[in-house]
Amino acid sequence: MAKRDYYEVLGVSRTETSDEIKKAYRKLAIKYHPDKNPGDHASEEMFKEAAEAYEVLSDGDKRARYDRFGHQGVAGNGFGGDGNMNMEDIFSHFGDIFGGGGFDSFFGGSREQQRVYRGSNLRVKVKMKLDEIAHGAEKNLKVKKHVSCSVCKGSGAEDSKSIQTCPTCHGSGQVKRVTNTFLGQMMTSAPCSACNGEGKIITAKCKTCHGQGIVNGEEVINLNIPAGVVDGLQLSVSGKGNAAPKGGVPGDLLVLIEEEEHPLLKRDNLDVVYDLTVNFADAALGTTLDVPTIDGKARITIPPGTPSGKVFKLKDKGIPELQGRHKGDELIYVTVHVPTKLSTEEKAMLEKIKGSDNFAPKLSEEEKSFFGKVKDIFQ
Ligand SMILES: [Zn+2]
Ligand SMILES: [Zn+2]
Repeated sequence: MAKRDYYEVLGVSRTETSDEIKKAYRKLAIKYHPDKNPGDHASEEMFKEAAEAYEVLSDGDKRARYDRFGHQGVAGNGFGGDGNMNMEDIFSHFGDIFGGGGFDSFFGGSREQQRVYRGSNLRVKVKMKLDEIAHGAEKNLKVKKHVSCSVCKGSGAEDSKSIQTCPTCHGSGQVKRVTNTFLGQMMTSAPCSACNGEGKIITAKCKTCHGQGIVNGEEVINLNIPAGVVDGLQLSVSGKGNAAPKGGVPGDLLVLIEEEEHPLLKRDNLDVVYDLTVNFADAALGTTLDVPTIDGKARITIPPGTPSGKVFKLKDKGIPELQGRHKGDELIYVTVHVPTKLSTEEKAMLEKIKGSDNFAPKLSEEEKSFFGKVKDIFQ
């Protein structure tokens, strides 16, 4: 949709002074304010349109660019930086239009409330072994944190008689003021300074927590870590962080997963990998042997003639997907060990068999012509 001319939106001429522009915007902001027109989409659009126009025309620099280049000249400016208007941004600008208390209070102050404190988040690290990652694990963590003061039950007061409703704001936590403005009298509200917006006043503080309602302490927190977590993943446990002053809302506990390295197995996403080195004779003759798995060991068969680079798969012996249905496998990568030291006797045996056709690698026709006669390679 093409944007309307900003002067047209505010209903002012192109030569209007900034005072007149401000005045025009105030009128529109009041007329189309969402609190006055609940559910009226057209009004909301007008409200946003007026705010955007005012944002540009109230700024000398932006206004000059708009006058010269039109909407192009101020693209990317204004609310949210991408041209998308955000109500929060609009309201945040009302401070200088309507003075101190903001706009909401003018329309009845539906958002007023007492201050509620919030505890800070806590971050802990949890080490996870591969088998714990595969199956999920229950962990009991002893966490040092702010806990609610048991003496005053978090209130911060010495006893129930020392908590009084704030006489200044009568418990609302907000004070209202009537201010005279160019639009007539307006009601504004601000947090009550007498009670710090809490609505209550403590006349005698709890001696244990000095009125804070929290003390240093510790808590053993039981965590159920799901299967499939990865190193660096952060889980959030709501309400298990630091307790908040004066009975507020506690913060969250953020649990950072640290994967412990397995001595034998490596993790590759959902798969686990084991590098198996086999005896040259076993690789040629075949054998059965035990390989490590997440939960212990498994017996596998190495068929006769197993080359280096062969991969065996133990289905579903890997890691389950976090909150998913897939499960990884264990992959066994074979390396055939070639001895570096040989006894005279072993040497003699190898010399004896190396000329056998069976010991010659299989080559393509091109390789054969490159290397010459196959047997020559080893002679
Ligand atoms: Zn206390
Ligand atoms: Zn108060």
